[in-house]
Amino acid sequence: MIACDVQINGVVQGVGFRPFVYGLAARFGLSGAIRNESAGVSIALEGDATAVQRFLHELSSNPPPLARLEQICCKPTEPRRRHGFEIAPSRSTATSPVVFIAPDVAICGECLKELFDPRNRRFGYAFLSCTQCGPRLTTIESLPYDRTRTAWRRFPICSECQGEYEDPNSRRFHDQSISCPRCGPRLTVLGPGGIPVDAPAGALSAAVATLRDGKIAAIKGLGGFHLACDAGNEGVVAELRLRKKRNAKPFAVMFENLHDVERTCVITAAEADLLVSSERPIVLLKKQTNHSSIATAVAPGNPSLGVMLPYTGLHYLLLRQFGRPLVMTSGNESEEPISYKTKDAITRLSGLADLFLTHDRPIQTQSDDSVLRVTGGKRLVLRRSRGYAPAAVRLPVSCRRNILALGGQLKATFALGRGENATLSHHIGDLDRYETFGEYARAIEHYERLFSFGADLFVHDLHPDYLSSRKALELAAERGKPSLAVQHHHAHLASCMAENGTRSPAIGVIFDGTGLGTDGTIWGGEFLLGDLHSFRRVAHLRRVPMPGGDQAIREPWRMAASYLRDGGEPTNAVNRRGDPKALSTIEQMLSKAVNCPLTSSCGRLLDAIASIIGLRDRTEFEGQPAIELEGLAMQSDDGAAYPFALSGDSPTEIDTRPMIAEVLREQSRGIALATIARRVHSTIVEIIVQTCQQLRSTYGVNSVVLSGGVFANGILAAGATERLRSSNFDVFTHSKVPPNDGGLCLGQVAIAAVADVS
Ligand code: ZN
Ligand code: ZN
Ligand code: FE
Repeated sequence: MIACDVQINGVVQGVGFRPFVYGLAARFGLSGAIRNESAGVSIALEGDATAVQRFLHELSSNPPPLARLEQICCKPTEPRRRHGFEIAPSRSTATSPVVFIAPDVAICGECLKELFDPRNRRFGYAFLSCTQCGPRLTTIESLPYDRTRTAWRRFPICSECQGEYEDPNSRRFHDQSISCPRCGPRLTVLGPGGIPVDAPAGALSAAVATLRDGKIAAIKGLGGFHLACDAGNEGVVAELRLRKKRNAKPFAVMFENLHDVERTCVITAAEADLLVSSERPIVLLKKQTNHSSIATAVAPGNPSLGVMLPYTGLHYLLLRQFGRPLVMTSGNESEEPISYKTKDAITRLSGLADLFLTHDRPIQTQSDDSVLRVTGGKRLVLRRSRGYAPAAVRLPVSCRRNILALGGQLKATFALGRGENATLSHHIGDLDRYETFGEYARAIEHYERLFSFGADLFVHDLHPDYLSSRKALELAAERGKPSLAVQHHHAHLASCMAENGTRSPAIGVIFDGTGLGTDGTIWGGEFLLGDLHSFRRVAHLRRVPMPGGDQAIREPWRMAASYLRDGGEPTNAVNRRGDPKALSTIEQMLSKAVNCPLTSSCGRLLDAIASIIGLRDRTEFEGQPAIELEGLAMQSDDGAAYPFALSGDSPTEIDTRPMIAEVLREQSRGIALATIARRVHSTIVEIIVQTCQQLRSTYGVNSVVLSGGVFANGILAAGATERLRSSNFDVFTHSKVPPNDGGLCLGQVAIAAVADVS
């Protein structure tokens, strides 16, 4: 007979861990108890020595599917001759070293069966879940994980649920989110302004009828409200664009099942796996050429479609009853944060939705749908949120203190660094919107409380005007703690190194939109030689002026004028469509160098090309010209590259003027735009490969890291990876966090972890 105390931390709460351990203890005939604590779980075990050993072996090698065990610490104790095994009440313990919270999990197969089984008592019940599925982050108020500290506390359980809760043979044994139609949350429908609506056939049917009528419904889901409408109805999708003030940015579509997706999109096995995974992200898929079931206004001029499958009971019921795919876009006006509080949603969305389908379970943390794509067989995260956040990313270094990294300005996320883990927040959005910044500040506070986290160091971008930088300095001053500024592209480099678990020096190819460089110019077409400690800028794209600064990001024709002028080309390619007066103003700005910051950004280069070939002169969202250029390039497989030149200086300058000249020549010769777009992509891949080869021979470094927002582009990411690998480089790319600014905070944590800050 032996006894021991086992402390486990990691993702061990909200994943069915206590009932699992209970079952395991019974199997090995052990007695004792398990309880949740603030930092994890503690198990008191007593029994036969070999049985204890086998128990521990089994637990660490085959834990419950959603669990992630970080540390198992076992201490021998005196046997107390306990009888049986029990699940003991939770204990709040003092500030703990590591806390993990499970992300939200899509409805599991067992619950789905119950949902559509007329004999089951949860038949047609929108909020069913079990220990293996359901909301977590979005319902948790504080730890340890118990119903009283979640959004479920408002729903006292009924006697039948109590019976299941106490039954070791039930899937809902000790399920903190147990509920049923008798005791759980309820659906209601409201009209604009929150006016009650008659729904004789039930709330769900009323919403479905509204959708069938070609109207728009706001639907409260897991992490916020969606705006939904019939994805096959051209008129209502156009109306949604009008109301949402969103002209072109694609809407996501929810299909009931894989089979329906296959009828509309080209789908690989890897993409199908991702769609059905328990994270249930939006996956960008290639549309089939005859995809008549989806209105063109859903993703105008875009060869891809953002697709997801239902992930809650409510979504399944909705899709099943409606019978056709639904547009499901976040419930906000263009670029505002997603609405997640019912009252607030009714205020903000009343002009947008004809009906609200809502419920009385509060959302504690907003969470947008995550967005991924598969490129070159590998997953690429474009937005890491629901299903993934707040799962921790393991760092290749250990944080000596608690680090709060505040990220960038666009696609904002933040990270808590503690020990060897970085906990990344959900996606919050672009901070230049007042509402978004408020949400960002609120989320930081919520996470600090949730994870019992007191920051000792605040990390931010080098750009002093990013609202995230200001927030970092404000928090640091308030709490009397140090802060650290990190160069934007160094953070991108470190982010990719960190998620790949590497820390040896590499060539960082950081192709991006914008970011302040150490020389005061705007970078974004950079080759950095460095590691987590430091970097050197060893090559970059040729710099050109950005007439009007940020205005040139919204108006790519300005960048086109700048590039044409830089190459000594006539600007009439821009003049042709634009306003001649505006063009002459820009030319004057350029010749006098007034309000013309210099940039080496690859994003701006792609913008200029999109404008030169007549694809787009004004943008509606970040990266739109590059996305459209990629869409065009997908229609061609001509891999020829245009000329460019590498200077012999240090840092190497990459001169793209020969490429621009050739684009103009081919365009005037009537070469298909798709071919030109493809060749531009091939040229950028060629620039990456040749520059890396030159840098390898100069510096003897063989590892290459690809990061920055431009690598959301599948042709560039897959093309550069493949060509570099065939030139025997070790290539590191992103698969856990976005290559864009959504992944910045991870790099900031990794850099701060090794920095000397007094
Ligand atoms: Zn389930
Ligand atoms: Zn119940
Ligand atoms: Fe960036």
